[in-house]
Amino acid sequence: MLPYGRQTIEDDDIDAVVRVLRGDWLTTGPTVAELEQQLSLLSGGHDAVTCTSGTAALHIAYAMAGVGPGDQVITTPMTFVATASSASLLGAEVVFADVEEDTALLDPAAVASAVTDRTRVIAAVDYAGHTADYKRLGKIAADAGALTLADAAHSIGGLHHGRPVGDLADITTFSFFPTKNVTTGEGGAAIFKDADLARQAREFRGVGVVRDPSRLRISDEGPWHQEVHAFGLNYRLNDIGCALGLSQLARLSDFKARRAAIVERYNQAFSGVEGIRTPTRREGVDPMWHLYPARILGGRRREVFERMREAGIGVQVNYIPAYWHPAYEDLGYRRGMCPNAEAFYAEELSLPLYPTLADADVDRIIETLIDILDRPRRAEGAPRRATH
Ligand SMILES: *Cc1c(COP(=O)(O)O)cnc(C)c1O
Repeated sequence: MLPYGRQTIEDDDIDAVVRVLRGDWLTTGPTVAELEQQLSLLSGGHDAVTCTSGTAALHIAYAMAGVGPGDQVITTPMTFVATASSASLLGAEVVFADVEEDTALLDPAAVASAVTDRTRVIAAVDYAGHTADYKRLGKIAADAGALTLADAAHSIGGLHHGRPVGDLADITTFSFFPTKNVTTGEGGAAIFKDADLARQAREFRGVGVVRDPSRLRISDEGPWHQEVHAFGLNYRLNDIGCALGLSQLARLSDFKARRAAIVERYNQAFSGVEGIRTPTRREGVDPMWHLYPARILGGRRREVFERMREAGIGVQVNYIPAYWHPAYEDLGYRRGMCPNAEAFYAEELSLPLYPTLADADVDRIIETLIDILDRPRRAEGAPRRATH
């Protein structure tokens, strides 16, 4: 089965990890700082704080933004649930605003009508690797005294009118899960424009421990002394993962180019084909394509999904609207809230997309899909015609 996403591991990656394994540091050593420096360079020079996953990065981001009971976080339902659930876990009320009909990105107009004086964070997702409209979202957030968060789990390396992902929102989060654009095994990072929030985030991901002698409040304990000023968790990414991440980042532009070439091949092949709609790309956006979200029209998404899988092609659906999860249903969220997101979900089918996917495989995926669209499976129980 061709997977829908897959890591790219080469000898450089293996050598980088082995070098760390032969060295003195397995956990927080020099490689963590090196990866954070590279992530910072990539993100407009802002502080980067690595952590154990994209979900941890979101949890850190919301916690540092001060999100808690009584606050609202406005976000998109067209995402992996962690974008919303990490805020819910902190006691905030998550408000789902609808997405744009074509891009499936958080719609600034929907956000503007959802904003209140309790809105603390407006969290967009760069769905499929295409950046959201942070210019408009940032204006709404600034007027409301809220922060913008970019869940950039899909979009590291992308650009918006020449500005890099990481420089578009107040806080940006990355995921380094194997199917994402670069991997550390498991891992993530949060980028902060506010250096003070970044410092707090660094302490939070290290159980809240303060070591900086100039900040210690108890001064006469002895040289071993370290202390906690605010509670934290152990969300530290280790040197092993960071070595892999550094080696991966060195090939980020190769990955981006190959992903873009595959997207272009799909777009060309499907243009003018009935029953399928190709992804939208806004002017000025240079996406880091993580997904190829095709739309299967005519109510045939499930049938096409099943037949592609039968043909050994690992398609996927990204995503069920976040508020359909029973955890949100239990909180009173109901279907119908965000019609654009629900309509998008009903048609969405992610085709395989990863740098090592060969052109021959892309062509087989295209041919198989067009063939399925040409020949609808006869309805259940319909009479079979004899073939002579
Ligand atoms: C993958 C993903 C996450 C979570 O990242 P993990 O590293 O798997 O915890 C969050 N948001 C989006 C949009 C994602 O795709």
